[in-house]
Amino acid sequence: MDKDYQEEQFAGITKFTPPLYKQRYQFVKDLVEKHKPKKVADLGCADCTLLWMLKCCSCIEVLAGLDVCATVMKENMHRLSPLPGDYLQPPERSLTVTLHHGSVAHKDPCMLGFDLVTCIELIEHLEESELKKFPEVVFGFMAPSIVVITTPNSEFNPLLPGVILSRHPDHKFEWSRAQFESWALETARSYDYSVEFTGVGDPPTGMENVGFCTQIGVFVRKCPQTIESAQSEKPAEAVYQTVFRAVYPSLKDEKYLQSAVVNEVIFTAQTIKQSLLDHLMSEPEEYSDDPAEGELEFQPSMNCFPEDLGTLVVENTMEPFVIGNVVYIPLTTIFSVPRVNELCGTFEKLCELIAGRVTLSSDGSAVVLSAEYENEEN
Ligand code: SAH
Repeated sequence: MDKDYQEEQFAGITKFTPPLYKQRYQFVKDLVEKHKPKKVADLGCADCTLLWMLKCCSCIEVLAGLDVCATVMKENMHRLSPLPGDYLQPPERSLTVTLHHGSVAHKDPCMLGFDLVTCIELIEHLEESELKKFPEVVFGFMAPSIVVITTPNSEFNPLLPGVILSRHPDHKFEWSRAQFESWALETARSYDYSVEFTGVGDPPTGMENVGFCTQIGVFVRKCPQTIESAQSEKPAEAVYQTVFRAVYPSLKDEKYLQSAVVNEVIFTAQTIKQSLLDHLMSEPEEYSDDPAEGELEFQPSMNCFPEDLGTLVVENTMEPFVIGNVVYIPLTTIFSVPRVNELCGTFEKLCELIAGRVTLSSDGSAVVLSAEYENEEN
């Protein structure tokens, strides 16, 4: 593993705060926040730390990792699984995380359709033959809108105590800024991308001429890719092996939407009922003058509508009422509560989602609850 194990140990002049690997990941995160890609692939993802950080970015719906070493990916891949809290309150966005075992020197259709591809400290680990194939696989075949490539800047090495030939024994090369820029410009030109250079890991004061410790190229595709051009290059065969896949709970999945709506409807109905009964108990004269049938009958005005449910978003024509021991909360009232309205979108969808899961009046127009009063003591 190559998480700057040397870069972080350097004593004296060059100690990065935050550590350099975190600065690289933060660079990617900032880029994600700026461009809001939906599909992101990290090539040479190693122990999946970057993917783990990116899963919190709410714009991302598909995250994929690729590494030639399955062992390093598997060590910590459980971090990419949903947590119990993700099931308790599923968000609107969907998220699928997949890890593939394979090489960036080979094309696989599972790598098509990504908006952003990151290659963090990857290229210096590639054999000459792999580095030759890399541009065609990433820029020609995958052809995402944005590619980020980071690699060590060898001009910085003299400032890193203990570094003689390279920063890591597995590095096949380390490039100066001129070498990286010439490779990147040629690659960008061949595949119709533009490229801009930057970096992370500031040089010490007075040594600015060496540049950043990590150099970064951000490539942006010049022409939008058409579906036809992507599909025409699609190879028939999958060569990567999928080693992990997690589908996060989301309200886009009908099953989670239904349980969220049912919970919200029951909560709303209970809150309205409670407010209604509180009102009723505080003004007994309003309902106590018809003792003949021993039943309560009460239709409050909406000024007893609980404020904590939010301001009604649709005009509400029917109002909750009590008959005997039963409270009726019209579905139209429940639909006009912001959270329910937002979840269902339409009244018909509300009816469809709660059918058979919430007790309704015989005509299906109201949620029915027992009028049992729950005050603070019980
Ligand atoms: N991106 C990570 C890891 C960098 S180390 C980080 O920033 O910390 C480089 C990673 O690339 C290693 O995990 C290594 O196994 C992987 N790698 C090397 N050659 C590869 C190839 N041909 N295809 C895919 N991954 C490769």
